[in-house]
Amino acid sequence: MNQQRKKHVKITAEYCKACGYCIKVCPDNALEFERKFNSSGYHPVKWKGKCRMCGLCYTVCPDFAVEIDDQETS
Ligand code: SF4
Ligand code: SF4
Repeated sequence: MNQQRKKHVKITAEYCKACGYCIKVCPDNALEFERKFNSSGYHPVKWKGKCRMCGLCYTVCPDFAVEIDDQETS
């Protein structure tokens, strides 16, 4: 067994109010607005899938929409 824990950025689209703070602070340009709307009428942010995992997006989000998650892979 060769299991590893791989980090990823998880955004709860329904909590996002599209303020854009996370996009502004991201040093890797790894976040962008989605084209679709959430149920509150905002374009939520999505993670593009690769970044340095600095955690700034998690720190600045005023709506608790961002989590840094561990995902088990094998
Ligand atoms: S963890 Fe850092 S590098 Fe990754 S998306 Fe968030 S702000 Fe950008
Ligand atoms: S900081 Fe939070 S609420 Fe603002 S755009 Fe990013 S995920 Fe959405």
